Order: sequence, then structure tokens, then C-alpha cells
Amino acid sequence: DVSHGAILYLEGVNVAFDGFKAINDLDLSIDDGELRCIIGPNGAGKTTMMDIITGKTRPDSGQVYFGQTVNLLELREAQIAQLGIGRKFQKPTVFQGHSVFENLELAMQADKRVRRSLFAQLDAGQRARIDEVLGIIGLRGHERRPAGALSHGQKQWLEIGMLLMQNPRVLLVDEPVAGMTEQETAQTAELLVSLAGKHSVIVVEHDMAFVRSIARKVTVLHEGHVLAEGTMDQIQANPKVVEVYLGE
Ligand code: ADP
Repeated sequence: DVSHGAILYLEGVNVAFDGFKAINDLDLSIDDGELRCIIGPNGAGKTTMMDIITGKTRPDSGQVYFGQTVNLLELREAQIAQLGIGRKFQKPTVFQGHSVFENLELAMQADKRVRRSLFAQLDAGQRARIDEVLGIIGLRGHERRPAGALSHGQKQWLEIGMLLMQNPRVLLVDEPVAGMTEQETAQTAELLVSLAGKHSVIVVEHDMAFVRSIARKVTVLHEGHVLAEGTMDQIQANPKVVEVYLGE
């Protein structure tokens, strides 16, 4: 039973756009607390796969489960987010004119389980959570700065922090180190590794050195299907993978 212990489980998923099979009999199983990297050439179906998990795109067939019992195909996009599946797009969408602290506060407010009016007095637990997240994302001491004044890397971390305010079980992260400096990339690796265990983290990334530095297990997508799965060493020694990447 491949689904045993999985927080996210896809089986036999198919999606066609105007007859073109973007996702073709896709199976994927992510363990609770796992950090998984998804790689694959352009057009492999990585974005569509994330769209399916978050409910943005409905598959034509197949199964998509959260844990053992929650059928994600029965839920709307907002309900899936509410369950604790957070997604970080490549482009940061922080509120530029608001401070770092306010961005985290607004993100907490977006969680409908937190019932409070905007900018009402935070209770001690909420302040402590914001402070904890500031520490996790390395932005303690920056909380009063407007988000618009942060570096590109800091904005990306703030956005991860905003997702963390909603205590997600699963985090989908799209190309987190695109456009980052070497040092920001190293700090992002550390951050994502530190999130695993407490959260399941799925990272789509093109930077192979980065993938190697964070992932125990890598999934290679090709033509909407899993071409190979394993450690980076296993993946890079796989003739099918080599062929796909040389043919790019
Ligand atoms: P990746 O993220 O790995 O680059 P995508 O999931 O974006 O791949 O795309 C997979 C394939 O599906 C591509 O060939 C793309 O052109 C096609 N595709 C994606 N979304 C649509 C859409 N809304 N309509 C038509 N074709 C699409």
C-alpha cells in the first residue's frame, strides 16, 4: 500500500488541455514531514501538478488524497488551503507598504480559524507565534521595516513566514531560489530543511546544486509522468533521466 503514512497521495491522475495530456497517469506519495524536490524539464507538468494539489485544476481522472481520508477532489481551492496546504508562488506577493510584522499579522488573519478583528490587540500567544516565525525566517530585527524595502531574498522568506502563520501541514514552494544571491540561496536551503519534519515541504526547483543540498528524495517529472524517483545520486545515474536532460 503506497499510501501508508502519506500526507499527500496522488494515484493515476490525468489532465488534458484540449486533448494534450499535461499530466499522464501520475502517481505521487509524499510522507508526513518529508522534504521532496520535484524536477523536470519545461512543460513536464510541475505547475499543473501543484495546481491539482491545491485544487486550482481539476483532474479528468485519478485520486488525490490528503492524509488517509480526505479526498481533495471533493473540496474547493479555498477549502484545501484551509486544510493546511499552502503554496508559495515564484513571485513574492507581500504587502509592500506594510511592515514585516504587519504582513505576518495579516497572514494570521487570513486563517479563518483565527477570529479577531484586523489590528485589534494581539494576545500573548499570537505575538509569540509572530516572533517565533520571525526567528524561523531570519527576519528578527527587521519587523518594523516596510516589506517593500526588503531584499529579494528577504521578501521570499517573509512570504514563507506568511504561509507559516497558518500552520500548514504541507508547503508547496515554486522555484524558491530563482534570482537569489549565493548567500541567500544557502540561507533558503537551511530554512527549508528546518521546516521539514514539522511540515511536509514540496519544492519545485531548477537549480540542481540547490536540490542536491536539500533533498533526500527527488522526483523527476517528464511528460506528465514520474520518470524516476530517488536520491540525487540515483537520479543522476539514471540513463532515462540523463537522456531527458541532454535532449532539452
Ligand atoms: P512545467 O511547470 O513543468 O513547466 P506545466 O505544468 O506548466 O509544466 O505544463 C505542462 C504542459 O501543459 C505544457 O506543455 C503546457 O504548455 C501545458 N499546459 C499547461 N497549462 C495549460 C493550459 N491551461 N492550457 C493548455 N495547455 C496547458
